[in-house]
Amino acid sequence: MGVRVNPRFRSVKGTRDLLPPESERWNEAERIARETFRSRGYGEIRTPVLEDTALFARSVGETTDIVHKEMYTFSDRKGRSLTMRPENTAGVVRSVIENGLAAGPMPLRLYYLGAQFRYERPQAGRYREFSQIGVELFGVSGPAAEAEVLEMLFDFLHALGFRSLSVSLNSVGTAATRASFGEALRTYVLPRAGSFGEDDRRKLAENPLRLFDSKDPGVRAALEGAPRTMDFLDEASQRHHEEVRRMLADAGIPFQDEPSLVRGLDYYTRTVFEVVSEDLGAQDAILGGGRYDGLVESLGGPSLAAIGFAIGEDRLLQVAPLAIPRRACVVVLPQRSDDLPEAARIAREIRAAFPGGCVEVDLSARGIKKGLARASVLFQEADARGLDREGVLAVLIGERERADGAVTVKRLATGEQETFPRSELARRLGAARER
Ligand code: AMP
Repeated sequence: MGVRVNPRFRSVKGTRDLLPPESERWNEAERIARETFRSRGYGEIRTPVLEDTALFARSVGETTDIVHKEMYTFSDRKGRSLTMRPENTAGVVRSVIENGLAAGPMPLRLYYLGAQFRYERPQAGRYREFSQIGVELFGVSGPAAEAEVLEMLFDFLHALGFRSLSVSLNSVGTAATRASFGEALRTYVLPRAGSFGEDDRRKLAENPLRLFDSKDPGVRAALEGAPRTMDFLDEASQRHHEEVRRMLADAGIPFQDEPSLVRGLDYYTRTVFEVVSEDLGAQDAILGGGRYDGLVESLGGPSLAAIGFAIGEDRLLQVAPLAIPRRACVVVLPQRSDDLPEAARIAREIRAAFPGGCVEVDLSARGIKKGLARASVLFQEADARGLDREGVLAVLIGERERADGAVTVKRLATGEQETFPRSELARRLGAARER
């Protein structure tokens, strides 16, 4: 930190290191995610990073930006085409079918956490290796599924300290809806597509729904006043959507209709949603999700309803008001290296008496003064490190202490210190921490 270096190797473009104390916030968010999901019967699934390339072409969709130009795809030594997963739903569905879970008892509730890879242009909050936290619920075709996953999602977001987020909601209906909507969209946009670049022309020809993913202002302007998916919904999808809205209102989940929300992956049916945080700028969603009732079957499994969401963990942590719980921290400072065994014994004793706190020994044993300088760095960085300022204590084992069988405890916040017999250490520390 703060030291100038000229490294021979640098992290790959679009990837980054997560260092303490930032990694502590990630761990805390992941702990809360696991707790929230597990308490509702969701089990963790971990699928491989590498999958058969065809899996993504088949599920995410050939004409999506992801499959078209963002995948890390390579041939292995036997010439198999492999892809580093750009998202996790396809892998989960593959696994659920392969392991026989799709034919097992329903509902099936799963969640995952992990790295995803997309060759995108790196920018604030957008990386080539990024992490997602996601949930998939299988086997429930009714709106109770939407209500369950969104309520759980909001419980999680609230536990991270968010208060004013709301869900943007839309329905893309069935495959038939998408087809007739796509045609109407093409007819509407075609005369306005004069300024479109090559990529957007391709989308217009192959899959006009993808135009909604475009960030080009010309495309956005051309889409103004365009037909809406809602006008093409079949009656059952319409009813489903009404019921979803009713159940969300009933659960107190804030949402608004977003008729232009179509989402970047091809497999969605009926409900699609996003949560956008204003802190990230207009375009950036913290998470996206939806129902994908046809995907399991199209990947070779049984006909099985499913719904899920994926939270972008990098963006989430950029804006989450999450505070990590404060811990006390004791630094044991031996004056000389001869005192290291005693310092280790003391550290052991403190850990046993106060599990959950943090105890470190100054292994350099470069004298009390230098050791105290280290302790005072911890104190100054207490907030960032998730330490309780009042709880930063130093235990000094100096010459005098050694001679008297004593220890000195110094509280960094006030500079107060007290020397007492070694045997009273745990009791005295306990009292000091109560204050
Ligand atoms: P998607 O899988 O495209 O539906 O994305 C779900 C969420 O993942 C988005 O809302 C973002 O928060 C996050 N995300 C997608 N791509 C990236 C990226 N390249 N870098 C960071 N986060 C991303």
